Amino acid sequence: MKEKIKNWLGVTRDEYTRNFVYNSNMRASIYMSVVVICLELWMIYTLTDTILNGGKERTFQWMVDHYAWYVVLLTMGIIMLIFAIQHFRKGKKFRWTGVALLWIFSIVCIVFGMHFGLNSYVKNEQILAFLTMVIFVFCILTWKPLSSFLFSVVTFGGFFWLMLNQTEIEMTQGNSINLLTMWISTFMVALAAYQGRRSEASKTEDLEKMNAHLRKISMEDNLTGIGNMNKFREDVPERLTQNNTRDPWMVLFLNCSNFKSYNERYGFPGGDELLKKLAAMLTEVFEGDPVARVSDDHFVVLTHRSQAQERVDKAVEGIRELRGDVRMHLKVGGYAVSPGCGVDLACDRARVAADSIKKMSDRHYREYDHELEEQFKLKQYVINNIDAAIEKGYIRVFYQPVVKCSDGSKDLCGLEALARWDDPEHGLLPPYMFIDTLEEYREIYKLDRCIIQQVCRDLRHDLDERRDVVPVSLNFSRLDFELYNVPQYLKEMCMLYDIPPELLDVEITESALTDTLGILQENMSVLRSGHYSLWLDDFGSGYSSLNVLKDFNFNVLKIDMKFLHDFPKNTKSVPILTMIVSLAKQLDMVTLTEGVETEEQYRFLQSIGCDKAQGYLFGKPMPKEELMTKTFGNG
Ligand code: C2E
Ligand code: CA
Ligand code: CA
Repeated sequence: MKEKIKNWLGVTRDEYTRNFVYNSNMRASIYMSVVVICLELWMIYTLTDTILNGGKERTFQWMVDHYAWYVVLLTMGIIMLIFAIQHFRKGKKFRWTGVALLWIFSIVCIVFGMHFGLNSYVKNEQILAFLTMVIFVFCILTWKPLSSFLFSVVTFGGFFWLMLNQTEIEMTQGNSINLLTMWISTFMVALAAYQGRRSEASKTEDLEKMNAHLRKISMEDNLTGIGNMNKFREDVPERLTQNNTRDPWMVLFLNCSNFKSYNERYGFPGGDELLKKLAAMLTEVFEGDPVARVSDDHFVVLTHRSQAQERVDKAVEGIRELRGDVRMHLKVGGYAVSPGCGVDLACDRARVAADSIKKMSDRHYREYDHELEEQFKLKQYVINNIDAAIEKGYIRVFYQPVVKCSDGSKDLCGLEALARWDDPEHGLLPPYMFIDTLEEYREIYKLDRCIIQQVCRDLRHDLDERRDVVPVSLNFSRLDFELYNVPQYLKEMCMLYDIPPELLDVEITESALTDTLGILQENMSVLRSGHYSLWLDDFGSGYSSLNVLKDFNFNVLKIDMKFLHDFPKNTKSVPILTMIVSLAKQLDMVTLTEGVETEEQYRFLQSIGCDKAQGYLFGKPMPKEELMTKTFGNG
């Protein structure tokens, strides 16, 4: 209640309303002073004209008196106008000077009005000058209720006193009542104007607060509290314009590799805590630079090139302290930006640079260079052209032979279908140039379905030609199982080309077996009941190969070619391969070793009982026609 009364009287310390009223007064004073200036110029002109044309007889004192008043008001109007214009042009400084000026201007106007109003009153004319100034001051400007009350009381009281004491005219009851009514009306108008302004101010304040809140939300990462990508997009162009040195700005993209394992080890709350600490650490390391979280464990920073490497090293050190016992590394990519360069594009390229060192354990930082530029272009090319490539037959199947090993015969017992993109512009592209990109953009299923169809067509062709056929193994991406019904599609193709499912083997790489456990297990059991042979590809390439053996049922174990690297120099590979083959036998699995390049390797694999082998020793991946001539003779 007390607060309401205070509000009503305008005696609260409400800074927003105070500023709002002050600004609206400054705006009003522009109109007011322009009117005053025009009016006084005109008065000075008519007065001068009257004198020059020898108008009515006037005393010298009279002229000086009038000139003085006009000039004072004119000067006051000009000062007020200049100050008010400056207030809006140069920012809202010198508030107290402004308030003082408004008061002085108002008082001068009122005193002017009283003076000339009284002159008219004496001559029995209307007191228009007084009334005009009262309207000017109390109705155009906005006053706090208490101020307007006191000021109007002094104004009207003063005028009343002057009428009583400075003139010979007797004050009539009518005049007193008129003056009283005028005062009450003026005060009411001033009061209403103030209340109107106050409610306007509070609405604007609410709106501004809401806007500020919304802006904050849209600019802030709600987990870590640092800026988000919107904020970064706003910060970067601003910083770029400040660059006056020869040291270019770099956008850095920071990615914590293996963050998933941290989440698995410490749970999501633990992961969230780490992200908060990471954000704080990065803000400290890149002090003064814009730092933002893009998503997950991805951050972006804008810093100077000269400082980039040193600060990245500090951040890498910082992560080592925060990561606990999880092997997590920081991978940072940098892209030199210039004004006018799109922020998203810069982040994208920095990300490409960061991704390019993902698998290099000893490297933490790479700048986007020409080589990456070429890769980036190729990536765009792949994404933009995959549909056309399939349609125009640029996607081709190459076959690599799989041979018998344990009996030492090297007889052909299977083929692996490997994709090639035979592009008229870029030449023959190997899978590493397009598979990852297609997976990233979830378009891999298009390629795989195309390969399946071609393999079935080739098999049909061979069967029709009454050639001997061997099973063909097909590579599947984890995403295939998410994006379409693999068993259903295989069934459709087998029916369309009349192929027995025993001729198709399904290779699923070990790294695909991590997350979508449910979907994969389901698909695998359908495939098994459909008589397809299931192959575990690249066994031993991941961290939890033995768990995979425990959780999934495969028919064939394809041992990763890394075990044959440096064979037989690397003495460890001998017992490891021996152990894997023997373990697979115990689990009733057929074994196949990839990457066999020498006779020595083949003999060794034979000696440990490995069932099958695949590698350059028996043949590189090749087109169907070449395979015909090499393996089966001319058909
Ligand atoms: P992968 O399934 O492990 O295929 C074996 C890769 O090893 C092939 O590479 C093959 O050319 C290569 N290779 C075979 N023998 C030897 C050897 O003796 N020494 C060496 N150094 N390399 C050998 P390629 O054809 O470049 O394929 C690479 C990967 O691309 C494949 O690895 C597979 O993961 C993927 N891929 C290929 N075709 C397809 C496809 O149609 N669909 C999907 N989803 N992935 C495919
Ligand atoms: Ca494979
Ligand atoms: Ca493989």
